[in-house]
Amino acid sequence: MRKPLHSLLLVYVLICLSSITKAQPVCGFDKVHRQLELQHPAYKNRVEQNEVKLRNWLDEHKPSGNLQVDGRVPNGPETIYEIPVVIHVIHTGGAVGTNYNPADAQLTGMIDYLNQSFQATWASYPLAGAGGTRVPFRFILAQRAPDCTPTTGIVRVDGSSIPGYVANGVFSQSAGADDSLVKAITLWPANQYYNVYVVNKIDGKDGYPGTVGPFVAGFAYFPGAPMYIDGTIMLASQAKSGQSTLPHEMGHAFNLFHTFQGATGATCPPNANCNTQGDRVCDTDPTNEQAFFTCPLSTDNNPCTGTPWSDQRLNFMHYTSCAQKKFTPGQRDRMIASVNALRNGLMTSAALTPPPATTVTAALCQPLSIVHLNNNNDMGATRLQLNTLDDSTNSYTPDWVFYVDNTCNMGTNMIMTQNYTISVSTNTNRQIVKVYIDYNDNGSFEAGELVMNSTTPASPVDYTHTTSITPPVGAVLNKPLRMRVVADFFTNSSIGPCSNLQYGQTKDYAVTILPASALPVKIYDESIKVRNNKLQFSFKVGEQQMVKTYALQRANKKGNDFITVKEFAPSSGINGNAAYAVEDDQYNNSSSWYRILATELDGAKFYSRILGTGNSEDDAAGYIKVSPNPSRGSFTVAVPVPPGTNVQLVLTDAFGKTVWNGSRISDRPITISGSFPAGLYFLRATAGQLKWSSKVVITGN
Ligand SMILES: [Zn+2]
Repeated sequence: MRKPLHSLLLVYVLICLSSITKAQPVCGFDKVHRQLELQHPAYKNRVEQNEVKLRNWLDEHKPSGNLQVDGRVPNGPETIYEIPVVIHVIHTGGAVGTNYNPADAQLTGMIDYLNQSFQATWASYPLAGAGGTRVPFRFILAQRAPDCTPTTGIVRVDGSSIPGYVANGVFSQSAGADDSLVKAITLWPANQYYNVYVVNKIDGKDGYPGTVGPFVAGFAYFPGAPMYIDGTIMLASQAKSGQSTLPHEMGHAFNLFHTFQGATGATCPPNANCNTQGDRVCDTDPTNEQAFFTCPLSTDNNPCTGTPWSDQRLNFMHYTSCAQKKFTPGQRDRMIASVNALRNGLMTSAALTPPPATTVTAALCQPLSIVHLNNNNDMGATRLQLNTLDDSTNSYTPDWVFYVDNTCNMGTNMIMTQNYTISVSTNTNRQIVKVYIDYNDNGSFEAGELVMNSTTPASPVDYTHTTSITPPVGAVLNKPLRMRVVADFFTNSSIGPCSNLQYGQTKDYAVTILPASALPVKIYDESIKVRNNKLQFSFKVGEQQMVKTYALQRANKKGNDFITVKEFAPSSGINGNAAYAVEDDQYNNSSSWYRILATELDGAKFYSRILGTGNSEDDAAGYIKVSPNPSRGSFTVAVPVPPGTNVQLVLTDAFGKTVWNGSRISDRPITISGSFPAGLYFLRATAGQLKWSSKVVITGN
């Protein structure tokens, strides 16, 4: 039977009406990603090479299906990847706090929400342990700018002078200024910061009330995008807490595709091999575009699998309109692989600490030009590794930058007369690599300061040059020195530290040489005090010459998930000794655990004892607590160690005779009970190296 045509038309008109009356945020990733691959063959190659690097990294770190780094589970409570972020607000001249120029509080609220989304602690989304997936990333606004001046991590620039910007904002698919022009007015190096651009409009739509139909809310690029274009563009209207645009774009920034990657309309994406097809994540179901702007029931069937949607409908990387959002463990692992294998410079970057007291001495010369300006030969270092310094970047192509000064944020330390391996990767063509360190800090590189001179062999052309470096006696100590990495076509063997290269790139980093006698820090005499709802952690240190930063860290009441609540620089103590008292400004009177993390200049980490606030009674923390005391012979013992710690207890009478002993796990109330004669007793508790004792008075029955 044929349906009358007019009723079909009516249905069609109704669908169109319902879809244009509601604003529907979409993401411009697919379009800009495809466009960039077409424009820049070098980007397309890099994306393919990066896919191999991600797979290799995951294969190497998932020996038994569980992700591990250095024997630790990297998504475990102790591991956090701190990502330095800079927000560039490209306003149109309006005051701070107006629609296109959001206030600082709104933007920091957006970052807090982003972190809670990743850590599965945003109250209205599935929480970690209840279907949510904790992604161990923390996004933090930068504290130092690329020129080593202080910053809040929020930069405001008037974009009115960019042609087309005021009327239409940034171009994604139809209208507006090219995003490279917008980024050019405030661009921070993508290997040191993740750039977020808050813009008035995309394709002429701002997403504020009055916007109808689909509009692009934001877009981002994969790692490997040219430095002048990498980052997230997002609408000011979406730049606030609770809007999932930024978590979604950060997914792309760390190599997540949409879960409907490869779908067209009702056609499902190929998914025969979940590692290489669709979104390349195996625990996300393939989906098509039919569920856009709807929220299917969890029991509805996904047409691409024939099985119920379940939580797949909540995925951050889909356009369903479900109010809750989450990532999957497979997406988490891909993002962790991305930050380790492709955006590792963000882990080296010092952008999260205030500017240093001493900066690197200016170079007396540097390359001023390049011979083949438009070459597309992928020459220059693509990865540099030395001690804690690890920087993956593009070569000269497709960034088109022949000299990069990374010395403010990208550096490491070496101890004098010790050996270190430096490795420099180059791709696609045979290259010559020379590395210099300005050991005498005079601003130039003498012949004796050449520390690597290596040429790619005939094959393979993708090559990692390595050599051993030993900082010599006589090197200038305890201040950052300039290291210069030069790479060019291998026939150009006469290049020096300041040469204008033929095709390649020159990059500067910082290295600090430490005296050979440096000893590790010692932390002792830790104590904790709660007074007037203020929590103060005090400690003393010896041998702090190597310490770069201290951090006060707080865990939840189970002793999990230590987070840094305050970071501070060492004072200049006599002979490396000093005493500190630091407060937790956000202390909320609940029981929690604290410790100090000392990070040394070479990246080594040392922790203090862990102290608890117990039940927040003044001065109770740091000591064992016996209650009731006096008692009739039955009392409980609270020991200031994290739950799960094994505690040995010994009760002796006034003559030293043991009347009770046992061991307990500290997360249960430790109750000691017996028919002890009335008198004075001593209780001793031991947990590892920690020891406490307390008088116990028993009154008898
Ligand atoms: Zn997207």
